Amino acid sequence: MKITEVFCEPPEERLLAALRQLNVSHEILLDTVYFKLCQDSKAYRAIIPFTAQKDRIQIVSFLEAERSAAAWLEIAPRSPSVEILNEDEAFAFSCTYIGEDGAEHAQHRRQVAPFEVKDEVKWAKRKLFTAPDDGGSELFTCGAVKQLVKDANITGCGFLTVFNRKTGMPCKDTFQLTARTEIPMKSISLGRGETEQLCPLCGKKQYVLENTYQLHLVQHLLPTTVDIIRTPAVFHDGQAEAVTLISQRFYQTLKGAGLCYGLDFTPAILESQT
Ligand SMILES: [Zn+2]
Repeated sequence: MKITEVFCEPPEERLLAALRQLNVSHEILLDTVYFKLCQDSKAYRAIIPFTAQKDRIQIVSFLEAERSAAAWLEIAPRSPSVEILNEDEAFAFSCTYIGEDGAEHAQHRRQVAPFEVKDEVKWAKRKLFTAPDDGGSELFTCGAVKQLVKDANITGCGFLTVFNRKTGMPCKDTFQLTARTEIPMKSISLGRGETEQLCPLCGKKQYVLENTYQLHLVQHLLPTTVDIIRTPAVFHDGQAEAVTLISQRFYQTLKGAGLCYGLDFTPAILESQT
């Protein structure tokens, strides 16, 4: 795992001199200097004494060797873009409350009907996955991936119909990709850095994850006959979301077809538990 930190610091002369001396590219806007450094670099260690900021954004990346060694990988599109237009009909909301913004929010939601979008997603040549623009964990993909999955005999995928508001008809080339198999909570090994939160209304547990977090899964409790699985919807801050994971075989199929662009893959760590 490689962790890059994003720095936003007051542009003090000592810091700027050190950045220039170490050849770290940086940008000064108004009264802040912005730069990024990899945690295990020499420059990082040299610069840290000149910094003031405590909480920095961390960008996590994995080596291909790490991804290729993982039995399961969390799959997440890097630039979510789909606006779901029928949220009120598509989801059943529970534990609703009025937020500080005066609007109604819900702690939990469950999809109960197909999604409706403005029009077909415009897929780029090699970027064939996206997600909702509201931070939801649902995945959208196109017919080419549906065909690839069929040809490669990848199992466990659902390709749900998405409706096109413009035409009122099912989209021809936009589908919601789902994992048919939800793994049980007991197959997730907790206590690995997640922060437990209780829903203030029903007491249900959910877990906030740092972006350096990797899911730990209990190997013998995982399915062996499917290539895509999802966790129960218990993760993240606010509205709890599921995490979707794909098998190494599915990952290699996407990689072989050159379709990993715009996707983040986080290897899960397998534990053999007795
Ligand atoms: Zn609740």
